[in-house]
Amino acid sequence: MSYRSELYKKALEELEDRRSKAVLEQAENRSLAFSKIPELEALSREISSVGTKLYRIYESRENVAQRVEELSRENMKQNERFERLLTENGFAPDFLELKYFCPKCRDTGFVNGEQCECLKALVKKEASLRLNFTSPVTLSDFDSFRLSYYDEKPDPKTGVSPLSRMKAIFEYCRDWANYFSRSSKSILMQGKTGLGKTHLSLAIARCVIEQGYDVVYGSVFNLMSRIEQEHFGKKENEDSYEHLLNCDLLILDDLGTEFSSGFTKKAIYSIINTRLLAQLPTIISTNLSMEEMLETYSDRVVSRLLNGYDRLVFLGRDIRFEKRKKQ
Ligand SMILES: [Zn+2]
Repeated sequence: MSYRSELYKKALEELEDRRSKAVLEQAENRSLAFSKIPELEALSREISSVGTKLYRIYESRENVAQRVEELSRENMKQNERFERLLTENGFAPDFLELKYFCPKCRDTGFVNGEQCECLKALVKKEASLRLNFTSPVTLSDFDSFRLSYYDEKPDPKTGVSPLSRMKAIFEYCRDWANYFSRSSKSILMQGKTGLGKTHLSLAIARCVIEQGYDVVYGSVFNLMSRIEQEHFGKKENEDSYEHLLNCDLLILDDLGTEFSSGFTKKAIYSIINTRLLAQLPTIISTNLSMEEMLETYSDRVVSRLLNGYDRLVFLGRDIRFEKRKKQ
């Protein structure tokens, strides 16, 4: 099953759950009200037998118009009495009605053949949950990114102030996420461990998911093992790989940590190349320097990253260390 259909399956299960809850709640309310007001039960049976009565009138073909009129009047009175009995006994007039979580689609997820907002929201929630589950940290956002961890003093080697570099990178990422589209430019995040690459890519993921896009986030290590297993296991199940090629935004964390094999090398090249040709945005983060990338990957991989991606080089000292110092 593809990633997307897994999400929909989950969302539809949740809707099914909501419907069952509504039905169960109605049954409980009925038994409560009927035990308190015995007359209600008989009245309720009378009211719901109106369809059968109508059918009999039409079938007999005698005095149809007049008898339908009488039945309708009687039904109205019964309904009024029903509501009055409820309110006189301290219940809301709609106490016994089915209360759907989403009255618009009656918890079916569809209105006139179109997806209801509640179904879309559930799919998004499920996608975020999975993202959270597979990512190493809880889903970050831009608000929790602290520029104060970065030095203002220029780095002696590069002459660049980590703070001003990171401020520019932060703003670039925030704008990129806010104005995301399926044709946004791809990003290569480079820099040592603990400089905020994962934080910013997760913040982007969250923002883009909230706009309703289909985002896949994962470490290259995990994603590669998954598709390798699928590839060498059941041949017919290569959906994860397909999804990496087609999703609106793919975020590959920690390029260079995967087990290097002929298979992973081919897969990484193919993912990068296919998505570039389709002009679909990808974010890749890596601790490797350009020289290390050239040692690890073929020239064609590195040249695609250099030519097709905006390159952000993170500067500073390990934030996780700085955070601990300030605690
Ligand atoms: Zn709905």
